[in-house]
Amino acid sequence: MNCAEFKTGCKEYLEELFSPEERRPYDAHVAECPDCRSIVEKSARMSCRELAEFLDDYLDGALDADLRATFDEHVGICPDCEEYLRSYELTRSLSAESAAHDTPPEDVPEPLIEAILKARESP
Ligand SMILES: [Zn+2]
Ligand SMILES: [Zn+2]
Repeated sequence: MNCAEFKTGCKEYLEELFSPEERRPYDAHVAECPDCRSIVEKSARMSCRELAEFLDDYLDGALDADLRATFDEHVGICPDCEEYLRSYELTRSLSAESAAHDTPPEDVPEPLIEAILKARESP
């Protein structure tokens, strides 16, 4: 197994979706490859669910440096969270825009955010 192959199955491996036989080549690769070992170590520090909890603080710049670095590392190795972060950022800027223009400055309820996003997606 090479690094590219490892990264392809990395998520399943880390979420322990593989059978013991499927895990074996990954374990072997991690044992001999410092790069991929550091991916495993980094991802062990923050799960996708934890990342989602920190999203607001992250975008507000409210995370301390350590946590922020861990967050960045996770986004760097997890395409799902990278995508999630991007769409979340967009949602936030959209709701900030609409708050500035035609709604009073109050918290925008989630259904509205979703509606705004949907409206954007469809022509
Ligand atoms: Zn590797
Ligand atoms: Zn993730």
